[in-house]
Amino acid sequence: MEEQEAEAARRAILSGWVTQGPEVAAFEGEFATLVGAKYACAVSSCTTALHLALLAVGVRQGDEVITVSHSFIATANSIRYCGAVPVFVDIESGTFNMNPESLERVISERTRAILCVHQMGMPCNLSEILKLARKHHLPVVEDAACAIGSEIFWDDNWEKIGKPHGDIACFSFHPRKVISTGDGGMITTFKSEWDSQVRLWRHQGMSVADTARHEAKEVICESYPVVGYNYRMTDIQAAIGREQLKRLPQITERRRALAGRYRKLLANAPMLRLPEEPPWARSNWQSYCVRLPDRCDQRQVMQEMLNAGIATRRAVMCAHRETAYEREPWSCGAGPGICGCLSGTCARLSESEKAQDHAIVLPLFHQMTDADQDEVATSLITAVLQQSCVDEESSKGRATG
Ligand SMILES: *Cc1c(COP(=O)(O)O)cnc(C)c1O
Repeated sequence: MEEQEAEAARRAILSGWVTQGPEVAAFEGEFATLVGAKYACAVSSCTTALHLALLAVGVRQGDEVITVSHSFIATANSIRYCGAVPVFVDIESGTFNMNPESLERVISERTRAILCVHQMGMPCNLSEILKLARKHHLPVVEDAACAIGSEIFWDDNWEKIGKPHGDIACFSFHPRKVISTGDGGMITTFKSEWDSQVRLWRHQGMSVADTARHEAKEVICESYPVVGYNYRMTDIQAAIGREQLKRLPQITERRRALAGRYRKLLANAPMLRLPEEPPWARSNWQSYCVRLPDRCDQRQVMQEMLNAGIATRRAVMCAHRETAYEREPWSCGAGPGICGCLSGTCARLSESEKAQDHAIVLPLFHQMTDADQDEVATSLITAVLQQSCVDEESSKGRATG
């Protein structure tokens, strides 16, 4: 963020309208145009967006929602907020996204929705997921927290994630994502009932918008037909978001160039598994996640790189392995005891667990120089080789022992 964002925040502060108001409305309109959505509703975060989206498609107490464990914990938590049970399916190792093949066998009469994730900005296999969802009359909510600016090839065109291609898509503006409002979220859909419903819920179920009451020439008294939430975005955040949106094309372009460079720089390190971009997907490369050889100690590689002054991050977590989900109900579709998932690991989620244990996220930011990137690649390869954890067959004599 630079002067333009600071100036926008100042404009909102001095406008006399601080929380959800005209800046939020303008941000929603600009966001809808960008992703090609009919409706966009701004909220306080992607977590609250997911909660409202699941409620809107009808998820209630005791229902099941199929999703991935391999995601930021907010994905699973949003299902629990509805009193529903997450049913976790495994991911594909190359894209880190939901494996559509494992979907059908966990669909039951209790399934109420599918919550898919475009993990780290890589579009998931929506066409396969939607085929199954439509066959079973299930709504699809897209966790697009990371996917602002990502694209999918659809009806012979490249379209932005968020149109949405499922039923409702949810975005995040947390600083870890590609563009930010500090905190914030957005819900996009093509269905006016869902849009009206989430607008009502985000503002305590209040029947009249503040802006409408403010502009009215006659006294209006609001009513509260439903129990809602305070999930509003402020005008200060929205003003910042509008500036960030203007930067998105340039940020995305740069990130794609950097991802392309990583692919080239790491191409001659066959022991590393680079992230796969399917031909129908164009990631915004929010994160560049590399799978280390299975025998490598992930932490040690990260430490070696940190010693060289390079900060990396552990790849995406798995909700089912967290203490919170020892207490919260979840399922992998197998009966209890069958896959050992009561002991903190789950045979049916093995690709998810491997991705968590053996992948790391490399630095990637749009201000990064080519020299920075060369240094990261060299340091990564050195750290992996030093550890002598390279599989014999893939190293072809590269391991130093
Ligand atoms: C960041 C993230 C969220 C949560 O977004 P917030 O805006 O921080 O609530 C949800 N899902 C995924 C996949 C994320 O990466």
